[in-house]
Amino acid sequence: LHASFSLIKRVTGFVSGSVCVLHDITEQQKNENSQKQFVSNVSHELRTPLTSMHAYIETLNEGAWKDPNVAPKFLQVTQEETERMIRMISELLSLSRMDRGAVKINFEWVNFNDFVAHILDRFDMIVKNNQKEGKKKYTIKRQLGTQALWVEIDTDKIAQVIDNIMNNAIKYSPNGGVITASLTHDDHRIILSIADQGLGIPREDLSKIFDRFYRVDKARSRAQGGTGLGLAIAKEIVEQHRGQIWATSSENRGSTFYIALPYEPMSEGDEWDEA
Ligand code: ADP
Repeated sequence: LHASFSLIKRVTGFVSGSVCVLHDITEQQKNENSQKQFVSNVSHELRTPLTSMHAYIETLNEGAWKDPNVAPKFLQVTQEETERMIRMISELLSLSRMDRGAVKINFEWVNFNDFVAHILDRFDMIVKNNQKEGKKKYTIKRQLGTQALWVEIDTDKIAQVIDNIMNNAIKYSPNGGVITASLTHDDHRIILSIADQGLGIPREDLSKIFDRFYRVDKARSRAQGGTGLGLAIAKEIVEQHRGQIWATSSENRGSTFYIALPYEPMSEGDEWDEA
């Protein structure tokens, strides 16, 4: 609490009253602290890959570049880490644009059922390609229904959210895992859920995974090329749509991510006039 105290004096010099102004600075202090924490996080996140790249380059420079057993691998790691850093910076910039309110949302009406099916078709293609290339296997199940569910969304941005959750489900799934996408609705919202059979998320971490840079297992996420920003961006986008995003999980059995978006069922009067 910040207090300022002033006396009200008359021209004659007599004190005729006083004013005390009390400012609640806890909110401001909290913002400043979280900003400091954020800068510290960004610095650490960038220093870690830079330090490891520095070590690789130093070793190459000291002669390892001549060793065909070592050099290609070191260069590969360096390239992957550079790519991850570029991705991280792009994601930070896009978060910063959202923080400033500088991101325009291009709302359009879509049938959410078709929209999700279209995105899942893309992932089915990846499944097929993976099988050809002998990569990790997984199956995508759909429980979408056939009813048209019209919602007003920014299709690029919501596609980015679904992509992110699907990619996580794949990343954290075991070989042969099943990923199930289900779409339900009630009178005021549609709910898309994406369930995996992966390693799950400990209960105490569930609410934190949407925070910037928060990962349950930093080393694992980094090894998979993760930045720890995907879910933070997803949350911003969903909230810009006045929706909610959350997750449930049972450890070692899998996780389910939910996205809820505002929806109004069409009433009789809203039917298109076919004539
Ligand atoms: P990352 O780039 O690390 O994947 P995200 O913001 O997408 O960053 O996710 C944050 C963290 O949430 C991940 O590092 C992981 O610990 C956890 N997580 C996200 N999705 C899943 C999932 N499907 N199964 C288990 N853990 C998950």
